[in-house]
Amino acid sequence: MNCNQCGLQFEYFNAEKEAYNRADALLPVNCPQCRRLRHLIFRNEKNLFHNKSCLSAKKIISLYPETSPFHIVDQNEWWSDKFDATLFARNFDFNKPFFEQYKNLQKEVPRWARIVVNAENSDFCNNSANVKNCYLTFSSYESQDLYYCMRLFRCNDCVDCLNISDCQLCSMSADCKHCYNIHYSLLCNSCYDSYFIFDCKTSKNCIMTAQARNKEYLIRGKEYSKAEYEKHKKEFLAQLANNPDSIKKEFLELLKSAYHKNLNMIKAENCLGNFINDSKNIINVFYTIDSEDCVNVYDSSALKDCYDNSYNEKSELCVEIDTAYEMYNSKFCTYSITMADSAYCDQCDHLTECFGCIGLKKQQNRILNKQYSAEDYKKMLAKIKTHMEHTGEWGKPFPHNLTPFPYNITLAYELAPLKKEEALKQGYMWHDEEKQEMPKEKYNLPKTAVEADESICEKILVCEKTGKPYKIIPQELKFYKKFGLPLPRVTPDQRYKELRNLQPPKKLIDATCGLCKSPIKTVYPPEWNYKIICEKCYLEKIYE
Ligand SMILES: [Zn+2]
Ligand SMILES: [Zn+2]
Repeated sequence: MNCNQCGLQFEYFNAEKEAYNRADALLPVNCPQCRRLRHLIFRNEKNLFHNKSCLSAKKIISLYPETSPFHIVDQNEWWSDKFDATLFARNFDFNKPFFEQYKNLQKEVPRWARIVVNAENSDFCNNSANVKNCYLTFSSYESQDLYYCMRLFRCNDCVDCLNISDCQLCSMSADCKHCYNIHYSLLCNSCYDSYFIFDCKTSKNCIMTAQARNKEYLIRGKEYSKAEYEKHKKEFLAQLANNPDSIKKEFLELLKSAYHKNLNMIKAENCLGNFINDSKNIINVFYTIDSEDCVNVYDSSALKDCYDNSYNEKSELCVEIDTAYEMYNSKFCTYSITMADSAYCDQCDHLTECFGCIGLKKQQNRILNKQYSAEDYKKMLAKIKTHMEHTGEWGKPFPHNLTPFPYNITLAYELAPLKKEEALKQGYMWHDEEKQEMPKEKYNLPKTAVEADESICEKILVCEKTGKPYKIIPQELKFYKKFGLPLPRVTPDQRYKELRNLQPPKKLIDATCGLCKSPIKTVYPPEWNYKIICEKCYLEKIYE
């Protein structure tokens, strides 16, 4: 089968065919990668804007810019009794395609500004729960004092981190667990007080070192006495402050010289994918824990029998779901919570047997937000199916241009950037960046945080890479001072991009083990020139 979008050849798994059949949905005509991209078009994860709530006119921080054609409502008002989307109920029109009717409903039902549950002093956050004192932090849970972080779980006091859990006092690090006071590090577990370390375990006081196991006082892989280590550490931090680019380059060289296990899977029985933990029978899955019998799943956890899902949690028997929680036997839904036996719903909470609904809470048997008896709902659904088969819509996902977000603020833009003209041509909206205030005169940033005082937080700084303005917040300054780290010379967004570029793509490719030459699957693109080895060779060479 050739993807109707990118042309690449792909195969269906038997389980996939069965799942789509069971869900009464058509097998997707595009490849898993293009399906994922379609989900990402519906997700703005980290772009926030000032806006006004359409109910109270209150000033809010929102995922939608003021220029958005949609009505945006403050998230607390959305959850209150003041907001009732049943008022937008309408009849199904059998003379019009379903997606056209859905689009008309979408234009009228106010959308929640962002979603943050049980958050304290965390206005500039999204997709997060149980967080405190966080700033520009996204998709994070049970954490506090995080700045510019993405997908952190049970972490405290971290800056610029990505996909880490149970960590404290870390910065510029990704894919780490149970670490404390580590900076610029990747793929580490239970490490302390270290800088620029890769794939290290239960080690502390290490600098520019890969694959240390139960080690201490290592610099560039060489062991030192405590006193020598402290002396060299001082020199290293000075070098990092004076010439951060050369140190970062050295780290990239370290990554090239180190061995990389083809895939990261722990307690994964019959699984294929990357960053899989405690799972069984899952294929083409990336960043998941506690899942079973799934295919093509990304950044999700506790899923069972789910196919083509992204950012979904605690769900079962779902196809084509993104950004959701506790879904059961549902298909083609986005941004929804606790739903069963439903399809084509968006921003809904606690629904059972609903179809094509937006913004509903605690409802059953509704179509385009309109109430039906249980019996009429079944009859209507059968009629709608025939109608949608006739219009060629049945069993197909939402068309891409039904995304409520301008293309360039969605996650899809990170993976597949388009120029404005091209995006508009393809039917997307576009967000023109507002002109940001630039400093009147150039400010010379001190090299280390120690040399800076709080007045620096008032200054508008200019990014060395992008020329865009940015600021350093007092909490950040305190963090850098504490660890003698240099002040960031690029915007938080640029820091995020640099870190993200060190994470392998969520795509499986065929390769050969660099040692035993056996055929393997991996995620590291050949152009990265990494030494990729199979699990057996990794265990022999590095050991866990
Ligand atoms: Zn494709
Ligand atoms: Zn091998």
